[in-house]
Amino acid sequence: MDDKETERAEVSLEPPKIQRLEESVVNRIAAGEVIQRPVSAVKELVENSLDANSTSINVVVKDGGLKLIQVSDDGHGIRYEDLAILCERHTTSKLSKYEDLQSIKSMGFRGEALASMTYVGHVTVTTITKGQLHGYRVSYRDGLMEQEPKPCAAVKGTQIMVENLFYNMIARKKTLQNSSDDYTKIVDLLSRLAIHHINVGFSCRKHGAARADVHSVTTSSRLDSIRTVYGVSVARSLMNIEASDNDPSTSVFKMDGFISDSNYVAKKATMVLFINDRLVECSALKRAIEIVYTATLPKASKPFIYMSIVLPSEHVDVNVHPTKREVSLLNQEIIVEKIQSAVELKLRQSNESVTYQEQTVASSPSSSLGTSKELQPKLLSPGSQSQKVPVHKMVRTDSSDPAGRLHAYLQTKPHKHLAENSSLTAVRSSVRQRRNPNETADLTSIQELIDDIDCNCHSGLQEIVRQCTYIGMADDVFALLQHKTHLYLANVVNLSKELMYQQVLQRFAHFNAIQLSDPAPLPELIVLALKEEDLDPESSENDDLKEKIAEVDWEEEKSCFQSIAAALGNFYALHPPLMPNPSGEGLVNYKKRKAFTNTENEGEPSNSTGDDVEMEDEIDHELVSEAEAAWAQREWSIQHVLFPAMRLFLKPPTSMATNGTFVQVATLEKLYKIFERC
Ligand code: ADP
Ligand code: MG
Repeated sequence: MDDKETERAEVSLEPPKIQRLEESVVNRIAAGEVIQRPVSAVKELVENSLDANSTSINVVVKDGGLKLIQVSDDGHGIRYEDLAILCERHTTSKLSKYEDLQSIKSMGFRGEALASMTYVGHVTVTTITKGQLHGYRVSYRDGLMEQEPKPCAAVKGTQIMVENLFYNMIARKKTLQNSSDDYTKIVDLLSRLAIHHINVGFSCRKHGAARADVHSVTTSSRLDSIRTVYGVSVARSLMNIEASDNDPSTSVFKMDGFISDSNYVAKKATMVLFINDRLVECSALKRAIEIVYTATLPKASKPFIYMSIVLPSEHVDVNVHPTKREVSLLNQEIIVEKIQSAVELKLRQSNESVTYQEQTVASSPSSSLGTSKELQPKLLSPGSQSQKVPVHKMVRTDSSDPAGRLHAYLQTKPHKHLAENSSLTAVRSSVRQRRNPNETADLTSIQELIDDIDCNCHSGLQEIVRQCTYIGMADDVFALLQHKTHLYLANVVNLSKELMYQQVLQRFAHFNAIQLSDPAPLPELIVLALKEEDLDPESSENDDLKEKIAEVDWEEEKSCFQSIAAALGNFYALHPPLMPNPSGEGLVNYKKRKAFTNTENEGEPSNSTGDDVEMEDEIDHELVSEAEAAWAQREWSIQHVLFPAMRLFLKPPTSMATNGTFVQVATLEKLYKIFERC
């Protein structure tokens, strides 16, 4: 060890000295957190204008907000005496003691926004209060006035200009200059604010541009406002939605809004959410709603959502995020579940009323908003673990509590089965007739096969399928279900195969068809397909057998249709993915196999033994993630597509009661007794 190294070693043993940061450094660091990008400055300024009871707010932006942000309003203005401390940190007219936060109605309360802007940009304020002959203009730097306010001409309200944002934060400015999408963000922000605050007119334009990119006028109709801001085609595909709860043991809230229907097709989902008039984000709610859309309207799975939720102010913690972008709610999970159910109900109703006009939906929103006693009220912080659990992974076991579970109201009560069935048949035939107006009766062979299904239906199993709660996959083919107090394992491959078989027959002759100009040589194609599966396509072994298989009896109508339906059923069944399940022990399948030769024996004739090939412990992560995605996708389809469809359509054949498709594994009463003894 030389001298230098000894020195370095000694130095590193000493603890570093703690120093007090200069106040200007502290302020600039804090400011960088409140004003993260130009759009955050715009949000703070516009919120101040809203707090000042403005009815008109105009925004001008230059260079994505880096050169200039100017917000002008017609609000109550700022008193001359307050101008001196206006931009100091923690000066506010909206809060005086901590408890006020409980009932705060204004957007701002931290008294930090304007101060922050002066630490990372140049701020100029022009303002006039009621009854004054002239206004005042003054500029600020680092929280302080640069000179005494100067009298000036002014129109009602306040205009705040922020210039050269981040002039003293080189790195931030560079990253923002490169991205240059802040103007889009600002337009997006103002569009959102405009459709909520319909008693305020908003405009937003680029500096020097004649046309405004957002322009809203005060109106009494939210839909009008959405039409003005987002366009006719959005407004045309919106449906009104409401949900509420007023039970302190579960949740207290009121929600109303607009959600898009099946005609709204977009690349990205838009979720405009206000909680107690604050524009906030709630990823749990967004995700919950998107899941419903994907399951119900797969073609319109990127919705437009506007929602305004109102809760008692003491149930909302507004002080959880420096930019106030998130809030935390009492009973957030329950509220999310209830809104999710309401959205699902609305979508199903609209879907049915569009496609099947005759159908009346039996269940009402209130029935699907059942209360859940086992969920205790708790305050959730937005970042907390429980919120991160994807909604579709949440496991419910109480089948009497439909809140939050998809397809909840598809469970029909036993005595309604008959009515439901006949209305479904009516629906089907009406759709059929609309699609094929000239076709009248079904083929007798198909009708016979359908009758077979009806006669062979096991009513006990049907009740289980309709009323069960899906718990999760127990292994590759068995799903765990709960019905009343019994747990069952159900073979999803058999079930989906049967469901598809029945669906093929039900919809026979009503699928989309392609007309071939020349008939395809089916027997030859089948032989080709069978050969394709062979390891050695050239071998003529078993050719006779293949030709036999290819000889389909096209003359016997009933058995021909039956075998085609069975083949289609098998094709569309939810078989396990081809890639082995990577979870648990299945991971072994993804170990990389690597061959290497013994280099020490170079030159000598290599004695080729099995030892040359070794299993490496390395895992092929790319394959694993591909396999994980395939398995997750299948499980999602099982829960959100297969089970809802089975509830509606499946008529389980009696054979399923004995062939291992359904296996009862436990009754909960007995399990509880065992636990009691433990
Ligand atoms: P906060 O909004 O949290 O109070 P700000 O720094 O955003 O903190 O604003 C400080 C104060 O300046 C506000 O409390 C308000 O009294 C006043 N103010 C800011 N902008 C305006 C405006 N556009 N019109 C009237 N008063 C304003
Ligand atoms: Mg403010």
